[in-house]
Amino acid sequence: MRNDSFVKSTETLKKTVPLMIKHKVPTTPTNYALWYTYTSQQNPALNAALDQSLAEQGHCTPTLCDELYQAYLASETDRDVQQIKLSLTAMMQELSHSMADTLSSTTDFEDVLEHTFDKLEQAENDGLSLEETTNLVKGLLKESRHLRQSAGNFKGQLDSAQKEIASLRAALNKSQQEANEDALTGLYNRRAFDRDIESISQKQVPFSLILLDIDHFKSFNDNYGHQLGDQVLKLVASQLKVSCQDGATAYRYGGEEFVVLLADQSLSAARQQAEIVRKAIERISLQDKKSRERMKPITASMGLACSEKNESPVQVITRADRYLNQAKQLGRNRVLPIA
Ligand code: GH3
Ligand code: MG
Ligand code: MG
Repeated sequence: MRNDSFVKSTETLKKTVPLMIKHKVPTTPTNYALWYTYTSQQNPALNAALDQSLAEQGHCTPTLCDELYQAYLASETDRDVQQIKLSLTAMMQELSHSMADTLSSTTDFEDVLEHTFDKLEQAENDGLSLEETTNLVKGLLKESRHLRQSAGNFKGQLDSAQKEIASLRAALNKSQQEANEDALTGLYNRRAFDRDIESISQKQVPFSLILLDIDHFKSFNDNYGHQLGDQVLKLVASQLKVSCQDGATAYRYGGEEFVVLLADQSLSAARQQAEIVRKAIERISLQDKKSRERMKPITASMGLACSEKNESPVQVITRADRYLNQAKQLGRNRVLPIA
């Protein structure tokens, strides 16, 4: 028996994509969730708002899509992911039904074949008329055409379901990735850090931390503008990323602060990596395109900590943070503790 909600979500799914194409809406995961909910008419307020904007403007801008998503759906993301998963399951069910149809056609065909062979054997023994033999062959042909058609239908369904599954899987992966990624730098974000440090500490794997804060970044922004500031954040992030090997992962902790989580690594391994990054950041050299003026060097201060037995993540972070503050107080552009 097929479950009604499976069938319904597949139908909604099939209506959603053409509607998005019609309104030229980019097929991002959030847009997908928005338009899926619109098509399924689960949220009358959302439908009213979207209908109004379509009536007034004739289309839905990416910004409006985002706003509607935030206003009506943001908290329901989990449910949408559930819906997508449900739709995948529904498609698999439909496929298995088609497969069963094809298989039962194959069995029918085998029955006809067997019956025909019996008859032919009878023909050899008893002598069937030409007409009877022709009818047997005709019956066989008819059945084989039927079989070919149902195999063809199945292949068509399989092809389109495979495409749909691939795009749904890509959408799911993308939304999962976006949830863990910092949009500006492409590093993992704070949410990913919180989850990873919790998991590593629960597994009782020892770890070290490098907490990094760019020095005097406010005045860099004030002098050269926020956009150049963003470029600096990207450069620092990429230095951190290339410095990470063997179980080390870099995250944007927030603002101009970053953190590296080094699984199963000592404080001295963390210090070595931190020094490499500190020197690399010092070498970042930026020049104003117009005035050709060379900008002040970028520097960063860092605090290190290594987990002790039975320490909570918060305790380790607090210790690294204390060393970071000391590094600032001692004149910045340094890594603490020194030994
Ligand atoms: P300190 O050496 O003590 O760390 O000084 P600071 O100026 O770096 O520290 P403060 O906390 O006073 O300022 C942090 C600045 O980082 C202020 C804020 O504008 C900037 N910032 C945070 N996030 C971003 C961002 O995404 N882009 C840009 N361009 N600047 C950011
Ligand atoms: Mg800071
Ligand atoms: Mg700072």
